[in-house]
Amino acid sequence: MSRDIRVFKFGGASVKDADAVVNVAEIIRQHMDTDLIIVVSAMGKTTNKLEDIFNAFVNKDKSAFDQKTQALKQFHFDIVENLFGNAPNRELQQCIEEYFDEINDFYEQKSDEASYLYDQLIPYGEILSTKIIHYYLLNSNINSTWLDARKCIKTDANHQNANVNWPLTTEHIHNDVTPLLKKNQVVVSQGFIGSAENNSTTTLGREGSDYSAGIFAYAVQANEVIIWKDVPGMLNADPKYFEDTVKLEQISFKEAIELSYYGASVIHPKTIKPLQNKNIPLYVKSFIQPESKGTIIQKRTENDDAIPSFIFKKNQVLFSIMPKDFSFLIEENLSDIFLKLSKTNAHINIMQNSALSFSFLMDNKSDIVEKIKSALENDYIVKYNTNLELVTIRHYDQKTIDFVTREKEILLEQKTRSTARFVLGNTETATNTIKEV
Ligand code: ASP
Repeated sequence: MSRDIRVFKFGGASVKDADAVVNVAEIIRQHMDTDLIIVVSAMGKTTNKLEDIFNAFVNKDKSAFDQKTQALKQFHFDIVENLFGNAPNRELQQCIEEYFDEINDFYEQKSDEASYLYDQLIPYGEILSTKIIHYYLLNSNINSTWLDARKCIKTDANHQNANVNWPLTTEHIHNDVTPLLKKNQVVVSQGFIGSAENNSTTTLGREGSDYSAGIFAYAVQANEVIIWKDVPGMLNADPKYFEDTVKLEQISFKEAIELSYYGASVIHPKTIKPLQNKNIPLYVKSFIQPESKGTIIQKRTENDDAIPSFIFKKNQVLFSIMPKDFSFLIEENLSDIFLKLSKTNAHINIMQNSALSFSFLMDNKSDIVEKIKSALENDYIVKYNTNLELVTIRHYDQKTIDFVTREKEILLEQKTRSTARFVLGNTETATNTIKEV
């Protein structure tokens, strides 16, 4: 009889140091009564550090590049030393040396395609973490096989946000992973990365490892996926902004998609669809208390409105634009605005229009004001307002609305039957600081 298949995803925080890796190995050992595919992110904040290294490369700052690369190498070797003590694993050490030689050589890369180059550097985080974990599992007498996700997860060449080629990916996972599971191997692979048709490495977008777990689960028709986190499950608000968070025991795939769409950061937004398509339940559990129940995300919807959820997005900028010739905002100029906005690659968090003005909210990052200005200023008067926050309440009532809007100026609000959204400013900093570009 074939065994159940589980896909586990361990994020950066769950493998941030040697103790964390020991804990991961223990969780794996506790679940070896089923087939396991383990999808792992880069250790701790490694992806951010690799991005810093990438920026040093872009800025042609060799000394920052060298210094940051050396620090990252030391970080990984420290973890290895703490894991293996005075019985070092030469093969692993050799591997890490080679990867860092490749990272050092990266400085000589000559290409103008920043996204392509990014994808050739940043995945080292996942490659390093999975190598370390694989060798540690072997050392702990767990039959682990290291699988290069780039052989299985096939994508287009849309670097930094690649789209999965599902038929090819499913076929590769069947060919490469299923035989390993049959031999009772624990398969350890990387989140976040894949490869294009020409075999160049691609990535699925920041925080994309959850999605990788969903992809593997879909392809092998797993019985369940568990995302191991440093929180007890999915909470009804981010504990950074909220004191009395409540754990959601059970929500539907649909609700999880809604929450991640509005910005809840617990699960990568693309993760749910493949699981929903094959009806594979997803658990979000604590790696600190692995025996506790966590949250289950599955098909049934009856508990979705049991607890209101709050999603906060800080540091928002609200743009209001008006056609310079005072023409009405109708389909024609709206489509012109959308076309121009889509070229900036910036994402609209909420929007609204009136007869003469169109307002939209964006994350205030990457010179967004400049980008919007140059995209629109020829034809439109562009005004903007910074220092705002967007609050979304799922399953709201008056009490929850009063709670989030208390002592705030409401600049924009939208309500449906299940969702209320507010763009809020501090009473002093809102409308009176409106700027025109
Ligand atoms: N390491 C990647 C990131 O930090 C992918 C992931 O962790 O999901 O974005």
